[in-house]
Amino acid sequence: MPSELTLPYCLLPQRWDVLVAGGGTAGAIAAVAAAREGARVLVLEAQGSLGGTGTNAWVTPLMKNVSGGVNLNRGLTDTLKARLLARGDGSRDKAGNDNWFNPEGLKFVLEELLQEVGGEVLYHTNVVAPIMDGKRIESLVVHNKGGLQAIGADVFIDATGDADVAAAAGVPFQAGDEDGLHQAMSLRFSLAGVDLARLCTFLTEHGQWQESPQFMHFWMVWNKKSTLEPLFRRAIQGGVLLERDGDYFQAFSVPGRPGELSFNCPRIRAEFNDGADPWHLSGAQLDGRQGIERLLKFCKTYLPGCEDSYLGSVAPMVGVRETRRIVGDYTLTLPDILDCRMFPDAVCRNHYPVDIHSVKGGATLLHEREGAAPYFAPDAFHEIPYRAMLPRGVSNLIVPGRSASSTFEAQSSIRVQQNCHSMGEAAGVAAAWAVREYGGDVRSVSGEALRARLKEWGANL
Ligand SMILES: Cc1cc2nc3c(=O)[nH]c(=O)nc-3n(C[C@H](O)[C@H](O)[C@H](O)COP(=O)(O)OP(=O)(O)OC[C@H]3O[C@@H](n4cnc5c(N)ncnc54)[C@H](O)[C@@H]3O)c2cc1C
Repeated sequence: MPSELTLPYCLLPQRWDVLVAGGGTAGAIAAVAAAREGARVLVLEAQGSLGGTGTNAWVTPLMKNVSGGVNLNRGLTDTLKARLLARGDGSRDKAGNDNWFNPEGLKFVLEELLQEVGGEVLYHTNVVAPIMDGKRIESLVVHNKGGLQAIGADVFIDATGDADVAAAAGVPFQAGDEDGLHQAMSLRFSLAGVDLARLCTFLTEHGQWQESPQFMHFWMVWNKKSTLEPLFRRAIQGGVLLERDGDYFQAFSVPGRPGELSFNCPRIRAEFNDGADPWHLSGAQLDGRQGIERLLKFCKTYLPGCEDSYLGSVAPMVGVRETRRIVGDYTLTLPDILDCRMFPDAVCRNHYPVDIHSVKGGATLLHEREGAAPYFAPDAFHEIPYRAMLPRGVSNLIVPGRSASSTFEAQSSIRVQQNCHSMGEAAGVAAAWAVREYGGDVRSVSGEALRARLKEWGANL
């Protein structure tokens, strides 16, 4: 019988006011917001840069979240956009869409913002488990090159996207749809050396209008009337693509990277759909790289302007759309979205549609903005309450981002990056207040006062 293994860890002598687990889309912004409110903040991040899915999974651009012609996410999202624009790593198209950005530029901007407000980051560090004292988290055990260490703080923000901390702390959670299946993962990549002007002309002449080589977006999904469908059929007949490569194909231009396109594909095989399972993640990496090989060949063979193109980069992180969703003090539902539900403790407004990249069948993409519900009006939106970020059973933890408390359908709508920014900003302010005023109790923070503070910082609430 092997003896029971007890791994030693050392307790770091320093303590922080706020520890942020995961410096991704929501976490990096949460850290900036908390430090801006005067808290001592440390971000614990598994990768070597901030930004998470938006940078390390190469997910660009930001999805539009506009209602009545107005961006619904402002505050620190505006700051990010202004800085990206000033560096040439962001841009605004003729239609006024200012969501185009370069993921590599975003990494720099996020670090710059964090350091300006005195926040700190510990990279290449995995959060392993919380050490609990009743309903309070005392510290987080992390693993990095220093071995196992416990780091203490008063308030914790779980921005891992997978609710890693919350789940290990015993918070109830949901995951996947009614059958436990998650949204499909994708391994994003970029194609460099593209003659964008030629490709732009080709696409415009073939039924996919492009504003200019600087602002390109083209796509193919089976049975959605994409004009590229015949090309996909030919490529399948020619042995270049597989049938499932047409389940979702999409590409965008990237500011600051002339001649490069970012691909929102290949979609990973359905059997690998749980981004919180290391075996699924590894399978996704292998399957994705093979898919990228096929798509490269397709582009070079069938898309004018791509003949001399080459693989620019493969995202270091697999793109994970949905894993664990905490059960919080409030769970956002599809009727909340369709009925445009408002909340006194709102921290974010959303008009992005329900968008499920289903692994059941080829192209179950419910992206249409059609129907009789109030939500489908062009100036409609619903709100997300602070309570959706407060996990049941733990007193000093906040969970912003894609694992906030929501049903499968509702999550598919609120998960886009700008909403994760807004949730992160609110989590950061609330965490700093909970430390300063309430001994770390995040439920003592008034949702109404939080909302008012976010408005002072420029939020559209
Ligand atoms: C393929 C794909 C395409 C998408 N397309 C778009 C799009 O076009 N536009 C858009 O706006 N949104 C898009 N989305 C949605 C959006 O990008 C994500 O929902 C959002 O970025 C998630 O933010 P988050 O902060 O919750 O998680 P993340 O940004 O993933 O951040 C989690 C962070 O935590 C770190 N981490 C995780 N576990 C640990 C741990 N145990 N210890 C330490 N660190 C840890 C990760 O490294 C990461 O940095 C897409 C998502 C995917 C996957």
